[in-house]
Amino acid sequence: MIPDNLNLTEERPTFVTHLECSATGERYEADTLHNLSRVGKPLLVRYDLDGVRKTLTKAKLAARPTDLWRYRELLPVRACKDIVSLGEITTPLIPLIDSVAGGEVLVKDEGRLPTGSFKARGVVMAVSMAKALGVTEAAMPTNGNAGAALAAYCSRAGIKTTVFCPEDTPEVNVREIAAQGAAVYRVNGLIDDCGKLVGQGKETRGWFDVSTLKEPYRIEGKKTMGLELAEQLGWDVPDIIFYPTGGGTGLIGMWKAFDELEKIGFIGSKRPRMVAVQASGCAPMVRAFEEGETHARRWENAATIASGIRVPAAVGDFLILNAVRESGGYAVAVDDDAIEAGLAEVARKDGLLLCPEGAATFAAYKQGLADGRVKASDRVVLFNCATGLKYPLPPSDQRLDITKPIDFAAL
Ligand SMILES: *Cc1c(COP(=O)(O)O)cnc(C)c1O
Repeated sequence: MIPDNLNLTEERPTFVTHLECSATGERYEADTLHNLSRVGKPLLVRYDLDGVRKTLTKAKLAARPTDLWRYRELLPVRACKDIVSLGEITTPLIPLIDSVAGGEVLVKDEGRLPTGSFKARGVVMAVSMAKALGVTEAAMPTNGNAGAALAAYCSRAGIKTTVFCPEDTPEVNVREIAAQGAAVYRVNGLIDDCGKLVGQGKETRGWFDVSTLKEPYRIEGKKTMGLELAEQLGWDVPDIIFYPTGGGTGLIGMWKAFDELEKIGFIGSKRPRMVAVQASGCAPMVRAFEEGETHARRWENAATIASGIRVPAAVGDFLILNAVRESGGYAVAVDDDAIEAGLAEVARKDGLLLCPEGAATFAAYKQGLADGRVKASDRVVLFNCATGLKYPLPPSDQRLDITKPIDFAAL
């Protein structure tokens, strides 16, 4: 099905020229199915950006519906009929009310996307392309949200889906994956163990592997966070972006988006400092950043309440570290206690229920203010990647007995 707001009669020129290995630069043909490159690294989609520059204007863009498909010239899907949409709206930037004088703290609230997380951005692109290229069965390892998005979009596209998640994945995630039509299995291991099962199923069953960065299009979907952010800020970028980093798709995608926007003449050379936020119980990027490494060693015994960033090893580690370093940013870990305290503070003060991963960015921002890595005058963007309603909340159990007089003065 195609949403009403997509104009089918409008010409949809697409500008994809080829794919490119992110490590070696080797060229790969567009419009055929790909996973990793020959050397086992992620593939990046390349566009005729001169062509886009000649076609697309800011005014043209401003007149389009406010959803992710407004950036069609910079997206890989070539035909409208292949788009498998559930309504990927532009998400709001919500200022925190105690933003420090002179500065500004904006929360990009991604919890409002289909299936309640920003995984919808990447997965809608991957599934639309999989459909276009004839995939009938797909599989994925997940900590919860990616699997939910995959189940939803694949069911809608008529693609059969199998999902593997760690044993302690939040109950609500496992159930929503099942409810949305995928076969879902809890596995007694972590997400990279689940990834190995997908790899084996790819060999034995011919499943298409939709794992983070192991197919080229989830990055393109996540890239729209950077496109959207720049447009929402009047074709400018913030001073700092705090991004809760698991596989790093969003961080890598936004970095690519800013580069493409500069090449089509929409923004200048200014870049935000990119801060990769991890949990102290699983911080492979932080360790590699601090040790000056190009790649990150696997983090053993990974543990954190922020399940979306419990990723012990990431295939795009070098791309994350490169973007962080090139931007003049850093990688930082926050404790689960700080995550819980941040979640409670923003909910109580701002009326904004963050997910634990979003709360981790708030905790990292506060830590940055305290240690001087963030200036009070900075324009800061925090990513809240999922709705807080998907996670267990602190208990509340005050009751009233209406058969007895109520003491209103005590309420
Ligand atoms: C997947 C996920 C992340 C990590 O995103 P990446 O772009 O893969 O690093 C963070 N938070 C939540 C809630 C997630 O679902």
